Amino acid sequence: MEEIIESTENLQLCSLCKTEIELDSVFCGSCGFPENGTDQQVNIFHRRLSFNKNQKREADKKIKSARNTLYVLAGITILFSTIQFFSHQDTATLITGFILGVIYILLGSWTSKKPLMAVLLGLLLYVTTIVISAIVEPQTIIKGIIFKIIIIAYLTKGVFSASSIKN
Ligand SMILES: [Zn+2]
Repeated sequence: MEEIIESTENLQLCSLCKTEIELDSVFCGSCGFPENGTDQQVNIFHRRLSFNKNQKREADKKIKSARNTLYVLAGITILFSTIQFFSHQDTATLITGFILGVIYILLGSWTSKKPLMAVLLGLLLYVTTIVISAIVEPQTIIKGIIFKIIIIAYLTKGVFSASSIKN
């Protein structure tokens, strides 16, 4: 009994995360806060904490941009296949467009877990669809070429942005 009382007297709460730490230990074992450290150690800790927060914010921004790229592509794909359907009664394009659109949306939601992989697969899928349509109908490569270049540039930017995220 006496031993237990003695051991609780040797403990204090970390002022940052409220974890119990021993009086003679400088740093909190849970969050790393220098509870019994010098002012300089406390300053360094706070500086590092805000640096990490900034890095996380930057990474979140990049993931969000990669996600938006894929959602925009999904929207454009579905929109164009719908237009194609109403102007040419092209059911095959409509179905393909909707399937591709759903895949881009799924890839977009996957960016929260694997941003680089998701946006890279999106880019590959988009380039593949252009190549396949060009093989089936060579004149399609010219159709909306500026649009295609913009989307590819946008996705490539997303790939570079996602690849620059530090874990
Ligand atoms: Zn702590």
